[in-house]
Amino acid sequence: MTQTSVQTTHYVPADLPTSIRHFIGGKFVDSVGGETFDVLDPVSNQTYATAAAGQQADIDLAVAAAKEAFDNGPWPRMLPRARARVLHAIADAVEAQDARLAELETFDTGLPITQALGQAQRAAENFRFFADLIVAQADDTYKVPGRQINYVNRKPVGVAGLITPWNTPFMLESWKLAPALASGCTVVLKPAEFTPLSASLWAEIFRTAGVPDGVFNLVNGIGEEAGDALVKHPDVPLISFTGETTTGQTIYRNCAANLKGMSMELGGKSPAVVFADADLDAAIDSTLFGVFSLNGERCTASSRILVERSIYDDFCARYAARAQSIVVGDPHDPKTEVGALVHPEHYAKVMSYVEIGKTEGRLLAGGGRPEGLTEGNYVSPTVFADVAPTARIFQEEIFGPVVAITPFETDAEALALANGVKYGLAAYIWTTNLTRAHNFAQAVDAGMVWLNSHNVRDLRTPFGGVKASGLGHEGGYRSIDFYTDSQAVHITLAPVHTPRFGGN
Ligand code: NAD
Repeated sequence: MTQTSVQTTHYVPADLPTSIRHFIGGKFVDSVGGETFDVLDPVSNQTYATAAAGQQADIDLAVAAAKEAFDNGPWPRMLPRARARVLHAIADAVEAQDARLAELETFDTGLPITQALGQAQRAAENFRFFADLIVAQADDTYKVPGRQINYVNRKPVGVAGLITPWNTPFMLESWKLAPALASGCTVVLKPAEFTPLSASLWAEIFRTAGVPDGVFNLVNGIGEEAGDALVKHPDVPLISFTGETTTGQTIYRNCAANLKGMSMELGGKSPAVVFADADLDAAIDSTLFGVFSLNGERCTASSRILVERSIYDDFCARYAARAQSIVVGDPHDPKTEVGALVHPEHYAKVMSYVEIGKTEGRLLAGGGRPEGLTEGNYVSPTVFADVAPTARIFQEEIFGPVVAITPFETDAEALALANGVKYGLAAYIWTTNLTRAHNFAQAVDAGMVWLNSHNVRDLRTPFGGVKASGLGHEGGYRSIDFYTDSQAVHITLAPVHTPRFGGN
């Protein structure tokens, strides 16, 4: 099957750093023991930089710097308006350099440049949103007439450990950094080892915006080394993690020893359910974008499409034709719709699922590497139809440009199929029947549901999954809840009835 492709030119951004360092206590530093790891770009799969590989000693230094800034520095004690000004300055700086950010992110991740630019702008928006939220924040007061007033004294928790994945790294880092900093916490960020390039830009952005030294600390490194040390550190009372479900389970176990607060945003295998009464043109546009944008490396990807039998053949034919026309190629070319997958290891994993899919479904589009793209981690947008719910490509997260289409006859069958996986992150429902839409939305196992849309999210809404897709919801004030303790203060206004123990 011939895929539309643009030849890769291996664009290399100007002034690309060749070494990527930690940022601890306001200074760029190497690992104490000098350890490094290689960083590849996904178009050539050649090493373009070495990054400092954080170990226990580096995490200890970063946590100490963050703890000192929390215990004795100004950041947790600033008025919300003063912190908000700094957060807006961060957003300004991100917007001012969005093109450079996108260029570096695209080089490091293989994400199409137009989509990386959108992610950079979303990162700025995250800071603006939480800047506004903390200024408008009100906390609860409870009155017991004549007896008591009770109020909530919100306090930042302390040093937050932030562990992030490689898909849209800069934006996902902003997602945790913005609410953590807005809340008055200090942080240690451990970005994904496949994509450490853009994270080091935060250091200069924060410094020029007025974030005091020690508030933001960055330790690069391997998950099982730097990430593990951060999770187990006794001076880090909470961990915000986004990544694979199995990693989340390990971190969950490792947090138990210190009873840490945890937020877990994990994997997904989200259904898009297309009923016969749907606006089919819109559903096709949306479900194509939903699984093939961000190279399919998207936690909320609509990677299973369930289609009502009466429109199934038409849907499959039209969907496959469009998938074959998706432009795959050089991530820096603005015409590119699907770029290169992040790393050869991930490419091998996705390709193995493509081969499994050939034994489990009817291949309608893609199925391998696009013609003409002989190097780099390119996979043609791949469509399998007639996929049984027991198939591995129906059940398991592939995290690449691969979609499984399955027919259904009734609403009940559609719901059983939608819910018949271990994940529960998102669901997309396509119907013009209002009653069906709401009933289905309320019954589906998903933390987030979109009716007649792909993933377009207002920042005030809760974000998170159910079942194996996560624990806890962030988003809007819920993120502030996560990074703060809600201490209850009880004020007595009248004599309290006190049983007189020992008073006979
Ligand atoms: P991953 O779990 O392999 O790695 C995520 C991060 O955890 C990395 O920084 C890694 O170094 C670190 N890590 C790995 N082992 C660790 C350990 N033992 N202790 C501490 N840290 C450790 O995930 P990934 O491959 O980078 O990202 C892809 C996954 O992320 C997919 O499953 C995707 O669905 C998920 N994701 C979820 C959301 C969401 O909001 N639900 C968003 C984006 C991505």
